[in-house]
Amino acid sequence: MAVTIQNIDENSPAEALGLRAGDVLLSVDGEPLNDMLDYQFYTDSPHFSLVARVSGQEKTLAVAKDEYAPFGCNFATYLADKKHSCANHCMFCFIEQLPPGMRETMYFKDDDERLSFLFGNYITMTNMADHEIDRIIKMHISPMNISVHTTNPALRVRMLANRRGGETLGYLARLANAGIAVNCQLVLCRGVNDGEELRRTLSDLLALGPGIRSIAAVPSGLTRYRKGLYPLMPYDAASSAEVIDILEAYGNSQKEKTGSRIVFPSDEWYLNAGRPLPSAAFYEDYAQLENGVGMWRLFHDEFLDELARPHRVIGQKQIDLVTGTLAAPLITDMMAELHRQYPAVTPHVHPIQNDFFGGNVSVAGLVTGRDIVAQCKGKLQSGRLGIPEVMLRDEKDRFLDDMTPAEVGEALGVQVELLPCGGGEEARALLRTGLHLERRRTPRG
Ligand code: SF4
Repeated sequence: MAVTIQNIDENSPAEALGLRAGDVLLSVDGEPLNDMLDYQFYTDSPHFSLVARVSGQEKTLAVAKDEYAPFGCNFATYLADKKHSCANHCMFCFIEQLPPGMRETMYFKDDDERLSFLFGNYITMTNMADHEIDRIIKMHISPMNISVHTTNPALRVRMLANRRGGETLGYLARLANAGIAVNCQLVLCRGVNDGEELRRTLSDLLALGPGIRSIAAVPSGLTRYRKGLYPLMPYDAASSAEVIDILEAYGNSQKEKTGSRIVFPSDEWYLNAGRPLPSAAFYEDYAQLENGVGMWRLFHDEFLDELARPHRVIGQKQIDLVTGTLAAPLITDMMAELHRQYPAVTPHVHPIQNDFFGGNVSVAGLVTGRDIVAQCKGKLQSGRLGIPEVMLRDEKDRFLDDMTPAEVGEALGVQVELLPCGGGEEARALLRTGLHLERRRTPRG
């Protein structure tokens, strides 16, 4: 294995050595370079011996540079390697339940430890070998985000549909004992890995000690495209409440013992069960926000804190805004509070049922442009539609069904206003009427 240079930074040590685009880096101090992590780790030191194929000829180059200064090579992709794809067919896999006809990249199932470190992706470790775990430990790649789901080996094999599902659980102890911080994810499937199985999983993970930094449990998301897949039942209010009780009991006891809760239910459980969301203190440092743990508490509190700051609203503003059905009651309450404190701003909330994915999918982040158009036609009360940016894919330009916000606005005959993801930012955006800008633009007569 080796990494091929795409381009070189100007005035860098790599340029000074005469390296060029197309040259290939083979090893540093005898350690083979396979990807970006190897490159960053081994080229960090001030002196090293580099073996590279320069203009087709293998050469050994002595490198001297400032410690931690970048060596100066760039690669075609951020990993300098292909992404590792997953070798599982999890019974709850969202990608396997996607509707047909979506963008090709949506169907790619990654399971790559490098992405776990770089972007916080969760990995199952079923496609990893011992030497890759050794590398994580050697480089101290921490934290690692691991999709555990269950610590029952036979059940994990069944849930992941991968015969390595059980044996790779052993890597958890190796990582935790080596001082790698491990954040665990449990996707719970009703009647499969909840109840007694969940108690067993929590006990086993907590027994691994302080290396296990956090454990987040989320309900499986089920779309209507499950033909031929394992028959899973969605969680209802009562079964969600049972899960919360187990998770909170373990979290409370852990908090008493160690000062940290470690075990966190995701927001969806509370919203499904109709229970109030816990206070901000419950979430400690919000370690599992990416899993939807504490996201609503944070958003809600930031929104109200922003309203409590002094704002001058110039003129009147009416705005329609869309959200998923799950959080619609919360959003409706928050908008009522905004209107109470700032009567010049009148928001109208439209919960959008997710017909695109169907099933129990109800979060705002998976609402599509098509559903907004179909469900808002003829119902909007202002000429302006607020679309939360969380509904757009990572590039923030399109919904998951490829519609753009501008196309939605055109189809509905309204002006679109994108609402930023943070609660404080969203409050500020809603309080801006735009009239102060018009005033500035209007010449005084
Ligand atoms: S690990 Fe499981 S849930 Fe994740 S992409 Fe692979 S099959 Fe899907």
